[in-house]
Order: sequence, then C-alpha cells, then structure tokens
Amino acid sequence: MIRRVASSEALQVRFWGIRGSTCASGPQFVEFGSHTPCVEVRCGERLFILDAGTGLSALGMELGQDAPEKIDILLSHLHLDHISGLPFFKPALLAKERVIRTYCGHLDGESAMEPLGRLFAPPLFPVRLGQLPARFEYHGFRAGEPITFDDGTRIETHLLNHPGGATGFRLSHRGRSICYISDVEHSDPWPDPGLAAFVRNADLMIFDGMFSDAEYSYCRGWGHSTWQKGVELSKAAGVKALAIFHLYPGHDDAFLKKAEAEMQAVMPTAFMARERQFIAFEPADDEMVADRPETAKVPAV
Ligand SMILES: [Zn+2]
Ligand SMILES: [Zn+2]
Repeated sequence: MIRRVASSEALQVRFWGIRGSTCASGPQFVEFGSHTPCVEVRCGERLFILDAGTGLSALGMELGQDAPEKIDILLSHLHLDHISGLPFFKPALLAKERVIRTYCGHLDGESAMEPLGRLFAPPLFPVRLGQLPARFEYHGFRAGEPITFDDGTRIETHLLNHPGGATGFRLSHRGRSICYISDVEHSDPWPDPGLAAFVRNADLMIFDGMFSDAEYSYCRGWGHSTWQKGVELSKAAGVKALAIFHLYPGHDDAFLKKAEAEMQAVMPTAFMARERQFIAFEPADDEMVADRPETAKVPAV
C-alpha cells in the first residue's frame, strides 16, 4: 500500500543526507544524493533530527518559518560530516525565540559545546553559533543511557564502535521503532550481542554500510561497516527493514543500484537510503508505507 501522506500519528523518517565522510557531486550521484548525514524523524507531530551534516541545510530550507520553537538535534558524534550543517540551518537564522537543543553522548557525559565552539569560531569559521539569532543549548549524556525529554519522550541509546566513539539511537512511537546506527565498525565475531539486543525487532534500522565486504580489507579500522554486515545484524536481530546509510562518496548510482539488487536478493526489505526518501510506519500493526519516486532527483540546495 503506497500513500504519500502518513497519518499524524505515524512514525516517519525522511533522509536529508546519506553520504559519509564528505559530499558527492556530479551527474552520477543524482539518484542517491550528495549530502552528509541528516535524518528527520517524526514521532507523531514531534520532530527529532539525527545528525547535522550538510543535509541539515536542505532540511532547514524545507522547515523554514514552520519549524517548531524547540528543535532537538541528536548527534551521533562530532566528526565533521555529522555537524557541518549546523550554521547553515535556516530555522536557527530566522527567529530569536527559537531554541536548538543538541544532544551528545560519546564524550563521557560532556556536551558538544566546547568542541563546537572551537570549530565554529575564527579563523576556522567566521561566525560563532552563539551569534546566530536562535539560542543553542548543549546537553551531554553517556551513550547507553536513555535520554528523557521535558515532554516525557524517551529515546534509548547505545555506544558504537567508532574512533572516539559514537552513539546509536532507538526512537519508538505507538508500537513502532527505528534505530539509527551510524557510525559503526562491525566486530569479530559479528553480530555484536549488545548491538543485536539494542536493535532487536526494530521496524527499520539505518545502518552504516559505507563499504562492501570486498572493499573492507582496505578500510579496516576506519570505523565503518559494510552493507553485508548490516544484513547479518538485521537477520540475527529480527530487524524488519534495513536502510544502508553513510554511503561512500566514491560509490555512484550505478554501483549502488547493483549493490542494492544483490542485497535485496538476500533481504528483500533492505535498500540503499536515498536523499528525500520518506518512510512512514503507521501505529500498531498497519503496513509500512513508503514513497520513493520523488527521491529520483536531488534538487540543488
Ligand atoms: Zn561519518
Ligand atoms: Zn565518524
């Protein structure tokens, strides 16, 4: 069943940036997209933003003045590809009364304030986040502990194997759940039992499958996994659908479509994430509804 508009109580996901490490650009990258990580998640009406890569600027253009007054950005970690969209987030530039709340879990409980303050300051950047009209707030927690928000919403977290650490998130709403597992390098043996327990029975897992198994021997220790390892984890943990994410900027549309076909031969509900792709999970036991055609063209932003 394909529907363009999900109900207001659905758990909804839209990809705004799907590349890892750096952007991709050119006619061979049109179908899957170019921006670095940013995913919009709606738990009913409630907005969460996962990571603030360059895709955040595209999301900000879409939200514009309609953005909520309080916006929660969950940062997996602070590598450049996950934060470089922050000063280009239009809702932060539009309204003085807006609050942008960032959450960071891989710094032993420290928030992202100090490292982001070092980066977004002269001579590396002309403007400090504190000079933007919106007010930025910085919250630190320890990955593995849940985050509880002022409206009672609770999000589960998990520490991921990545240089310097990263945080995985599990968001649940009305009996549905999605897991965001980026950036992560798989362990040996695999799947990791703790991670498998964390993602168990999720309706969707967004997983760092930057490389293929064939490429992995050249990238061991870089902190990223493969799409095949994403499938193995999904099958072991009863994950219902898998979105491969943090796509390598050197993988063009032709490569990704071929890899996607190979992956779907072993897991039909797995796919390579596409920018602007929208997926909604209706409450309780309704079917997954997906809308993919609009992802074929990635507008310039
Ligand atoms: Zn990354
Ligand atoms: Zn990283």
